[in-house]
Amino acid sequence: MFVKNISLQQYRNYEQLRMDSFGDVNLLIGSNAQGKTNLLEAIFVLALTKSHRTSKDRELIAFEQTSAHISATVEKKYGPLTLDLMLSPQGKKAKINGLEQRKLSEFIGSLNVVMFAPEDLEIVKGTPGIRRRFLDMEIGQVQPSYLFHLQQYQKILIQRNNLLKQMWGKEASSQGLLDIWNEQLVEHGVKIIRKRKQFIVKLQKWAESIHHGITNGTEDLQLRYVPSFGEAAEEDEAVLFEQFMIKLTQLKEQEVRRGMTLAGPHRDDLTFYINGKEVQTYGSQGQQRTTALSLKLAEIELIQEEIGEYPVLLLDDVLSELDPYRQTQLIETFQSKVQTFITATGIESLNADKLKNANIYHVHAGQVGS
Ligand code: ATP
Ligand code: MG
Repeated sequence: MFVKNISLQQYRNYEQLRMDSFGDVNLLIGSNAQGKTNLLEAIFVLALTKSHRTSKDRELIAFEQTSAHISATVEKKYGPLTLDLMLSPQGKKAKINGLEQRKLSEFIGSLNVVMFAPEDLEIVKGTPGIRRRFLDMEIGQVQPSYLFHLQQYQKILIQRNNLLKQMWGKEASSQGLLDIWNEQLVEHGVKIIRKRKQFIVKLQKWAESIHHGITNGTEDLQLRYVPSFGEAAEEDEAVLFEQFMIKLTQLKEQEVRRGMTLAGPHRDDLTFYINGKEVQTYGSQGQQRTTALSLKLAEIELIQEEIGEYPVLLLDDVLSELDPYRQTQLIETFQSKVQTFITATGIESLNADKLKNANIYHVHAGQVGS
């Protein structure tokens, strides 16, 4: 897919912006704090209705303003789509071709993007919560039903935790209600676990071969799903359901004592291995960065596989961080098939040869000129 144009109103430091006729490769050049990331972020938000940098939507609205608007035309295989997203303290409104969508989940996925930004290193180095967020964002983008189960699960989890907090000393009288929450938690939890497993298996396949390419065949990258209960390889929903239920029964006393749910997809993790060694613990900085990069590039292929079209690639400040060999690998792999937006503080840091045909934009104080 291809973003033809974009307009922003009161989005971060953009009071008013209209950009037309984007190319296959678009370079956004500018000094620090001018609005380069904000522009990539706006494209990302239009795709996922959430920022990659913050969970607080009000930060996206320009200072002193009460609403923000992002709009773009996206060329897709079956024709163009006009996408509109309005942000305000009351919430978000999304339109496809002028038609307001009842649920945001019906809007998400109209535009698909893959962003690679410096903070993605945290997917490898950071806490399990960051890896779960990565999984949730990526799976949700290609499977709206995943988001439905995730939202339900999170709602039930809160209710169940509240109940557990009140249960101390009155286990018997609350058991009936707990059984109901268990049933619902497990029902949605199992769907989430299965979809995560399937996603990780597919991601593994692409990430392994891409990582091989980037490292000239010297590094073998493996991904491993670490569920909070049961066997990582178990696929069957009925078996998972049973295992989750048994785990909750085993944990009950402990859960009541601690007032929280101790097993389920909200406690899953994902680990990475290079040549059999855990990257988070033993990997060098460069290996960690390359692992994150391989994951992101794998996602591009995965999205293509799932939806039949390549997503748009957003590279924030990362190209200039890579050595020339890796830059070349990256650009050559995707130049002809994936529309790309690249930010950098200066054109000299980029492998200019490979970017001959790029559109170049200069970003300065919330304005963009060519
Ligand atoms: P760098 O090269 O340092 O990454 P950048 O060009 O990517 O810089 P951005 O992250 O896009 O910079 O931010 C540009 C400016 O936007 C910052 O000065 C920041 O203060 C400002 N900004 C952030 N949020 C808002 C907002 N809600 N309203 C107005 N301005 C904002
Ligand atoms: Mg930036």
